[in-house]
Amino acid sequence: MSDANGAVTDAGLRSAVGAVINTEFGRRLDELGMVASAKLSAAGTPEITLDLPTPAYPNREGLKTAVQAAVRAAFPAAPEAAVGFTWRVRGTDAGGRIGLKVHNVIAVGSGKGGVGKSTMAASIAWGLKQAGARVGLMDADIYGPSIPHLLGLNEKPQVVEDYGPNGESIRRMGAVELDGLKVMSIGFLVDPNDPIVVRGPILHRTIQQFLQETAWGELDYLIIDMPPGTGDIALTLSQLMGLSGAVVVCTPQKVALLDAVKAIAMFRKVNIPVLGLIENMSGEIFGRGGAKAKAEELGVPFLGEVPIDATLRVNGDAGQIAANFTEGCPSHAALQHVCERVAIQIAKEVIGRPKLPSLEIL
Ligand code: ADP
Repeated sequence: MSDANGAVTDAGLRSAVGAVINTEFGRRLDELGMVASAKLSAAGTPEITLDLPTPAYPNREGLKTAVQAAVRAAFPAAPEAAVGFTWRVRGTDAGGRIGLKVHNVIAVGSGKGGVGKSTMAASIAWGLKQAGARVGLMDADIYGPSIPHLLGLNEKPQVVEDYGPNGESIRRMGAVELDGLKVMSIGFLVDPNDPIVVRGPILHRTIQQFLQETAWGELDYLIIDMPPGTGDIALTLSQLMGLSGAVVVCTPQKVALLDAVKAIAMFRKVNIPVLGLIENMSGEIFGRGGAKAKAEELGVPFLGEVPIDATLRVNGDAGQIAANFTEGCPSHAALQHVCERVAIQIAKEVIGRPKLPSLEIL
């Protein structure tokens, strides 16, 4: 696609790059809206900028190589293309219905307690934040809020001035911030030693208030740590907004997988798409691979396995989730992988799906 003299043109570059198949999505880059710019520099070097759907995009190097190969094939005489990246998280913007400026809401659930659901929810939130996204983490595990403990937070949320849908000044609860991650938990508001007794209708209202009356600001991802098992809160959430999807955490043993199957069925029942299954605590004790096989059987994506690892427990007990994301942590790569898979699955749910009609966003 060169001009009459065989020279490279910007249009020719754009069409060569646009035709590259993105292997994550199985679609062309132009269809995905990922070619931000394609032009020749003054010095004659092809310069390509790709707009990724998430900052947690895995293997940018592979994408760069594919684009360079396509440019080389189309214009063998041109210098090697320079490929750069930007990112912009797209979303269902479903929070608009209840006045939240949140692109994607993701529920993290499990069939039963103790499988590491809260650890995974906090890790996904932290990993996406580390990648550069604007992230919130809401602890909806109202019966056993463990997020404050895992993140080492014990502040009380402050009342802050915020703006309502029509620009009017209103008061909200300020989320507690941890290095830019916005966190809200009922654990901030009640004594950790007091059992929390909340019944159905109050539960519904509490969750709605938590979502609506927190000053989240603008977020790319809001991760919700769900209570295990029960469908009540999933139903409440699905009635309040259209979630991007749910991630189900399980451990590898057969009995635990049965609970995961129930959790998947529960999310499907309330029309929340299941983004996939994470196998946590895989290794010697519980075995491994069970969740992957189950995910295939159920037709849901497998989002990765995180080994049983004493460092994770120690860091969790010490309120040091950030330490899981340092090079020294044996599970760092596994957690990073899970974050990337979750981000890609969310993008798959969103790209090419019509935008939900939303009321005026704050
Ligand atoms: P849930 O939310 O499912 O009840 P938690 O996230 O609170 O589970 O985790 C339960 C316990 O297991 C915590 O002490 C946590 O630190 C520990 N844990 C979670 N994942 C792992 C893992 N992969 N290896 C070792 N310990 C883990």
